[in-house]
Amino acid sequence: MHKPKILAVLLVTLMLLAAGCAGRTPDTGQVPDTSGKGQKPPAQSQPVSPVEPGEEKGPAGLVAATVTRVVDGDTLVVRLKDRKSETVRLIGVNTPESTREVEPYGKEASAYTRSRLDGRRIWLERDVQERDHYGRILAYVWLEPPGGVNPAEDVIRSRMFNAELLLKGYAQVMTVPPNVKYADLFVQLQREAREKKRGLWGLEVKDREPYYIGNARSRKFHRPDCEYGRQTAPGNRVRFATREEALDAGYEPCNACKP
Ligand SMILES: [Zn+2]
Repeated sequence: MHKPKILAVLLVTLMLLAAGCAGRTPDTGQVPDTSGKGQKPPAQSQPVSPVEPGEEKGPAGLVAATVTRVVDGDTLVVRLKDRKSETVRLIGVNTPESTREVEPYGKEASAYTRSRLDGRRIWLERDVQERDHYGRILAYVWLEPPGGVNPAEDVIRSRMFNAELLLKGYAQVMTVPPNVKYADLFVQLQREAREKKRGLWGLEVKDREPYYIGNARSRKFHRPDCEYGRQTAPGNRVRFATREEALDAGYEPCNACKP
């Protein structure tokens, strides 16, 4: 009865070894993730990776793309090198609505982006978050590569389309942390456009309020009687004397009360 016992022990040992090997991937020694069947974790938890497989790496980690369709002033459909189609939302700016709802200057902003970008070769620079909740790529759109990771201000002004939209008054600043690489400059560009009454800043401002309420958390500002403004927690409340003061602080007008 000794031999079968030894054989059984050997068999069990071999099985355990086999199981141990199968449980690890050969290259990394890491236990494979079976929970998500190979799916990527949510974008927020991923480190910044400027280039995905199949994308063409441009200068300074930028991704080259060709614009195949302009959805509206701040949203594009592009084709990457592997012919993959992706929707891109420009970071840090917001153009007036021109699709579901038409806001003043929305059609103009959309037409301008189409005239500048449709069919054009562009380079995408990403910030901290790769995609938004809709799965769109978040990017700064370069018309020409900036030639470095921290480009000079004049380079940004002349080559980055997000900056161009602000300078010409086709867009307002919309700062969504943590994607804030150029946020301070964007506020400055918006201020210049406003002072020169360019684009949407030339529209007449009606119904001015004696003061406005800002929400330091959402970075939006409201009319005093807006219910969303009134819901602002006391600790996040910021009072502005004028809408210009709120805009220069980088706050975005509320979509509901449109201050
Ligand atoms: Zn409001």
